Amino acid sequence: NEEKSLNFIEEIIEEDIRTGKHGGRVLTRFPPEPNGYLHIGHAKSIVLNFGLAQRYNGKTNLRFDDTNPVTEETEYVESIKRDIQWLGYQWAEELYTSDYFETLYEYAIKLIKKGLAYVDDSSSEEIAASKGTPTEPGTPTPYRNRSAEENLRLFEEMRAGKYPDGAKVLRAKIDLASPNMHLRDPLLYRIKHAHHHRTGNNWCIYPMYDFAHGQSDSIEKITHSICTLEFVPHRPLYDWLIEQLEIFPSKQYEFARLNLNYTVMSKRKLLQLVNEKHVEGWDDPRMPTISGLRRRGYTPTSIRNFCERIGVAKRENIIDVGLLEFCIREDLNKTAWRRMAVLDPVKLIITNYPEGREETLPGENNPEAADGEGSRDIPFSRELWIEREDFMENPPKKFFRLGPGLMVRLKHAYIVTCEDFVKDEAGNVTEIHCSYIPESKSGADTSGLKVKGTIHWVSIPHARTVEVRLYDRLFNVENPAAEEDFKKTLNPDSLHIIERAYVEPDLLNAVPGKGYQFIRKGYFTLDTRSTPDAPVFNRTVTLRDTWAK
Ligand code: ATP
Ligand code: MG
Ligand code: MG
Repeated sequence: NEEKSLNFIEEIIEEDIRTGKHGGRVLTRFPPEPNGYLHIGHAKSIVLNFGLAQRYNGKTNLRFDDTNPVTEETEYVESIKRDIQWLGYQWAEELYTSDYFETLYEYAIKLIKKGLAYVDDSSSEEIAASKGTPTEPGTPTPYRNRSAEENLRLFEEMRAGKYPDGAKVLRAKIDLASPNMHLRDPLLYRIKHAHHHRTGNNWCIYPMYDFAHGQSDSIEKITHSICTLEFVPHRPLYDWLIEQLEIFPSKQYEFARLNLNYTVMSKRKLLQLVNEKHVEGWDDPRMPTISGLRRRGYTPTSIRNFCERIGVAKRENIIDVGLLEFCIREDLNKTAWRRMAVLDPVKLIITNYPEGREETLPGENNPEAADGEGSRDIPFSRELWIEREDFMENPPKKFFRLGPGLMVRLKHAYIVTCEDFVKDEAGNVTEIHCSYIPESKSGADTSGLKVKGTIHWVSIPHARTVEVRLYDRLFNVENPAAEEDFKKTLNPDSLHIIERAYVEPDLLNAVPGKGYQFIRKGYFTLDTRSTPDAPVFNRTVTLRDTWAK
């Protein structure tokens, strides 16, 4: 068994363990902002953070990064927890940045007392203008040299609610000439008179990401704080704050975020799709959200495998959604139970099978499993549904299905020969007449006949009617986010509904999340909103990659 090579974060951790840093302890965190549902990009971060902890005997905290009172909701908190657990992970502690608001406030006081932070009355435009450009240094605003005493008083008044939104901010006093714009006296606190989903109206000042994130890492004694590449230029500030505050030295490491083609991945854009009803909701099976993928029939294993397979990169790239589909096919091929379903039905009558007779044929659940995982009973009778495309009036050579005079095996049943067919006035085939060979029963075939094709079928008197939903890409272009208006590239045919498909009766025992292979038609799962009176199956993925680019 070949050891898979270490990714760069694993190399860092192994080195840290070797040198005894933090006593060999590994504590990571997953820090979602509760302003939307998790998507496949978050899964990448979850698999990485929880995976590292598992590998190195460590732990992972779940920390809700809830410093923005306006966009955050408890509904999102609940969905995030559900999705992480569904992916197969359990956090050590459930924490909230808002629980640290008092500590963060004290940290700010400490910086002010050290002369390293000041209250600035400038407007956001004035501050932006005074920051200079990457090639030209910034200029101090008139408030930069306030005394520590004055800053303390003003900051306390900010907290006490004396000033309206935007009237003042707290800034770190670092270096207005730094080549790193993030070090040009970054904002630490802003005034926002808003209700927070956990702290209510206790606060009207809220810490900025840069002041909250690293400090929260430090409070929790996170050893390896892993984030995406856009935070590389924030790292000097992350380190500066920890150093000046003299608190636990967490370290930040960056990897490339996951981008997937034919979809969008920012929560803001996904929220637009939901709010403007381009999709049914966050868990619409076409969405790249964890809940959408789950409803579509993706398994936790397939998503974890996908994240492992793409690895941890240091450079941005776009992953082909075909790889995600490969991973779910690979898993479902091993685990899905095989069933028969006819999506576009036409009637087949076995003329030499006595009217009123029926029998039950065994069908193995899973030919990929060593024990087959048992079998179900499939009812068989004189009249069957088969797929319309499995019959041709004038078949070409090598059409190994049905046509006048052609023979085919009915899966798990008999060999039949097509003798006749009936058309309606419009020229559509309405009935196919066949005879069957009684000695050709599957498992007890003494007919000596060899046929090339096998087709699926459902006994008409036993068939159950279900709705089937087939999905295609949600967008027509590879990188919708690069378009001026990404919604203009929505694929109008991303959902195809078949209102009446026929399935074998055992499929009424299906439960959401259990994968079924509808033989020759793809992998399906019962929709979570399906009811016993009106069952709905979602196609997770086709059997093969049939999508033409
Ligand atoms: P969005 O842009 O969708 O709002 P975000 O980064 O603001 O994403 P957060 O809730 O802050 O969303 O993300 C939680 C964690 O997940 C962060 O550590 C973030 O880096 C990581 N993450 C988010 N999107 C991706 C992605 N596409 N690939 C890898 N990690 C991601
Ligand atoms: Mg974020
Ligand atoms: Mg965001």
